[in-house]
Amino acid sequence: MLQTTEQLSKKIAENATETDSKGLFPSDNIHLLGRQGFLSAILPRPVGLQVSHLLFARIVETLARACASTAWVYTVHSAASYSLFSAGNEAQRERYVRGAADGTKLFGFAATETGTGAGMTGLQTSVTPAGDAYLLNGVKSFISLTQEADIFLVLAKPFDSQQGSNNLVCVVEKGTPGFEVGESFEGMGMRGISWGELLFKDCVVPKSNIIGDAFRAISSGGHVGMLGSCAISLGLAQAGLDLALKHAKERTILGQKLASREGIQFLLSEMASDVQAMRQMLYFGAEENERSPNAYPSLLQMKIFITETAVKVLDKALRVTGATGYSRGVPLERYYRDVRAPMLHFQTLETAKRALGSML
Ligand SMILES: Cc1cc2nc3c(=O)[nH]c(=O)nc-3n(C[C@H](O)[C@H](O)[C@H](O)COP(=O)(O)OP(=O)(O)OC[C@H]3O[C@@H](n4cnc5c(N)ncnc54)[C@H](O)[C@@H]3O)c2cc1C
Repeated sequence: MLQTTEQLSKKIAENATETDSKGLFPSDNIHLLGRQGFLSAILPRPVGLQVSHLLFARIVETLARACASTAWVYTVHSAASYSLFSAGNEAQRERYVRGAADGTKLFGFAATETGTGAGMTGLQTSVTPAGDAYLLNGVKSFISLTQEADIFLVLAKPFDSQQGSNNLVCVVEKGTPGFEVGESFEGMGMRGISWGELLFKDCVVPKSNIIGDAFRAISSGGHVGMLGSCAISLGLAQAGLDLALKHAKERTILGQKLASREGIQFLLSEMASDVQAMRQMLYFGAEENERSPNAYPSLLQMKIFITETAVKVLDKALRVTGATGYSRGVPLERYYRDVRAPMLHFQTLETAKRALGSML
């Protein structure tokens, strides 16, 4: 499957610049991945291909080297559908997960609100019982795939709850009365991910569409999201290293190759070492997530180290490549903008540090 990913990535790389510059959702890439079965890769059999979490991370890493927006969409869909598979009941799986697997339905996850941000407590989005259903009200912000996903897992609180410990997740399909896509946002990077608001006004959610175990839904899918976002950081850092190396070997200044300068060699060595350390940490985190129910601290360490280090690697890549790297003629400036996003979603860097700190 990795070999196929490499082949698909060549095709995916072709429209990465346009995806970024025009802010286009990479529909063709997602259909391509869907046709090859990738959209269900992480889902357990018989619905999905049940690839290892390590293989999932390597697929995302490979995609990110070609187009980070595509890798992001793939990660969000995989995390949200995995969440539904893990925390949903048999009927919900039967009804929804097959669509995720055959690529006909794209999934998104909506937790963030302007009032709560990185925290999961104090949600304003609420559900009120109404006969056999709930009425969902609220606004979700900074959500990926708003225009393109077919089904969202929406985090909400019971209308009379202040705490957040009894949150629940509503499975809401596009087209449900009372559910609308709101404003779209422009990000500095990840410009192909269709990013914005979701509005819920007396949106009727049948009780059969409620996932009661919000903690399980968020942690199962969230961990897959952490792997995916770190794999994106790694893919971008590797792409930056490759580009900087190529540039240093080709560029001649005053008759000498740039790569022969000691200062540049130091930078390249640091970058190569960091990328290797990131890779080992990602692969360890992926294996740990599959074999241990207590993988969370390892995932937090992975998220903290990889997302922060990737930015440093790309900063050095920009230093090695000078004005060439700074220009839009090469994709380095795109990598540098895209690499900020994994520090913000599926745990921000700071909340990851705070969570890990409380466990040490
Ligand atoms: C590209 C992109 C895609 C996204 N997609 C989705 C999506 O699909 N679904 C979804 O639900 N959300 C999504 N988000 C939202 C993302 O999860 C939030 O941006 C994140 O949770 C932080 O919320 P905030 O931006 O409101 O920052 P704030 O909560 O306002 O935080 C601002 C800063 O303060 C830090 N901070 C906050 N609380 C603490 C604390 N207690 N201690 C120390 N530091 C703290 C944060 O780390 C951050 O650096 C996406 C964001 C981005 C950038």
